[in-house]
Amino acid sequence: MATRHGAVNLGQGFPDTDGPHVLLDVAAEGLRRGLNQYAPGRGLPVLREAVARHQQHWYGLHLDSETEVLVTVGATEAIAASLLALVEPGDEVLVIEPYYDSYAACISLAGGVRRTVPLSFPDLALDITVLEAAVSPRTRVLLLNTPHNPTGKVFSPAELEVLAEVARRHDLWVVSDEVYEHLTFDGLSHTPIATLPGMAERTLTISSVGKSFSLTGWKTGWVSGPATLVSAVTAVKQYLTYVGVTHLQPAAAHGLGLPDDYFTDFAADLQNKRDVLVTALADIGIPVSPCQGTYFVIADLAGLGVTDAMTFCRELPERVGVVAIPVSVFCDDKASVASLVRFAFCKRVEVLHEAAARLRSLRTPPSRGTVS
Ligand code: PMP
Repeated sequence: MATRHGAVNLGQGFPDTDGPHVLLDVAAEGLRRGLNQYAPGRGLPVLREAVARHQQHWYGLHLDSETEVLVTVGATEAIAASLLALVEPGDEVLVIEPYYDSYAACISLAGGVRRTVPLSFPDLALDITVLEAAVSPRTRVLLLNTPHNPTGKVFSPAELEVLAEVARRHDLWVVSDEVYEHLTFDGLSHTPIATLPGMAERTLTISSVGKSFSLTGWKTGWVSGPATLVSAVTAVKQYLTYVGVTHLQPAAAHGLGLPDDYFTDFAADLQNKRDVLVTALADIGIPVSPCQGTYFVIADLAGLGVTDAMTFCRELPERVGVVAIPVSVFCDDKASVASLVRFAFCKRVEVLHEAAARLRSLRTPPSRGTVS
């Protein structure tokens, strides 16, 4: 629809500029020097070692790159293989709602049952009593995502400790999707739940090159955790894709070793883009939930009279030339988010200004005589 209507696409979360050129050069060089055959099942050692060094450097997590890291086809495969490895038919999986759409599909593929724990709007708080009530004797996995898509919430160490305490007490595995780990704003930093006491031995941590390096098409990711869990995930991965794409792995490794400045400058640039979009929305009178990280911000269009964001978003490309995503697609409880939409701000600043100018027309009443 975006293409058909020449709309500004703030729907899908992909940047409109490529990441560091040096990574493109390393990837191209890999093709030319013959990295064109199957990589080892767990991935090239250079990338597994880079993941281990990255986790040590940024979070103080110690990993054995031989046994505790697996390279996957993006975080998407890491999520699927982890859930298929850990969830047996009838097992329950705790998911924070709204949730990234692949989670529901992968839980279903594993024969599992999802139990959702909602974040409240607009403050994005987690209700601990609801969390406790969602746990049952069949609960096996807590599936976490921080920084969180679609809300932009960065779970604080205190919130993570609440979740960790539940996981320890009920002996749950944790699958933690941290693809936005370097995209945090306002001086906040990302805490992997695996760094909390008693959690490294029960947590699979997932990330990928897509978001950290603005290379979402590379689909190269990794999962790390205890050797027994990583072996189980590897067994599944073998029959999903066998191995990941070879020549991109040294390039991903290069990215993970870039100086800290690269990551902080990138987050600062994205924070500026968030500010451009949020300020423009505020000017039009559209309130947003607090956005502490990721590519996304949630806006409440109730003030514009929107009561069905799904229909609104279907009409928006043709009506004003902008694409947004209704938050209901990330939720089981669709009624509670009926006026909410997600905007992606990982676009060039001029593109964000253009989107804002187009959205402003939503405020303009139709001129007299207009047939609508
Ligand atoms: N998890 C989340 C929360 C995401 O937003 C995305 C990308 N939209 C992914 C996983 C998928 O990452 P990848 O492209 O590396 O498979």
